[in-house]
Amino acid sequence: MNEGGTNVKRWLCLTAIALAVLLMASSFTEYPYSNSRKHYESRGEIVWEVPMDEKLIALTFDDGPDPKTTDRILDLLAEYDAKATFFVIGRRAERFPEIVRREVSEGHEIANHTYNHLYFNGRNRLQDIADEMDRTGEKLAEISGQKPRWFRPPGGFYNETVIRMAKERGYTVILWSWHQDTRDWVSPGVGHIVRKVLNNARNGDIVLLHDHVAGSTQTVQALEQILPELKRRGYRMVTVSELMKHGKSNPVKLDKPH
Ligand SMILES: [Zn+2]
Repeated sequence: MNEGGTNVKRWLCLTAIALAVLLMASSFTEYPYSNSRKHYESRGEIVWEVPMDEKLIALTFDDGPDPKTTDRILDLLAEYDAKATFFVIGRRAERFPEIVRREVSEGHEIANHTYNHLYFNGRNRLQDIADEMDRTGEKLAEISGQKPRWFRPPGGFYNETVIRMAKERGYTVILWSWHQDTRDWVSPGVGHIVRKVLNNARNGDIVLLHDHVAGSTQTVQALEQILPELKRRGYRMVTVSELMKHGKSNPVKLDKPH
């Protein structure tokens, strides 16, 4: 009898704990797992690069705007007739809206890279993920007059929930070509960044660079070498939106000669 009572108590206790855990979990990420690259790529939910026959490359700059670096990068892009995509941090866009306006007015694209550069580690509250996406999207729309189409999670960390929530908001997740991760954010040396891009450059690449790196200007110096050389090789540097139009799975319709 005594033993039976203890068992019932234990069962009740375990049930209560299980319920509490379930309640807590429901306010966190529902699907902390992720599928393979092939799964997401074939569904068009994540883009790493855009295979194509044309010599187009998309340079992407994360974590800005930065009052010291972004303007220098914009000057260089203008000099080489290059367009790029800036994955901006909402909090920084709020501080430096004039830089975002310059990016847009010079034909570059702006995209969402969260508000606080929050890493999605599979244990985030759903509300936090939503806030990171929405506050930035609204801020960028307010500054530029256009809602961004692309979302890049900080550090490239994604899971099923992040992808689903991005999709619900009309975003496609854009990462980068695995052979074009310059690691410029750890200041590996100008030569390293230059070699990474130039030795690996191929049609449809999405190159990962940063216009805001704490205490570093290596990206600007690297671009001084990368831009003229890519141009010399006949590459045209375009926004992610432009790159996407040229993908083999979504070929541009050309007018047929009559
Ligand atoms: Zn970042």
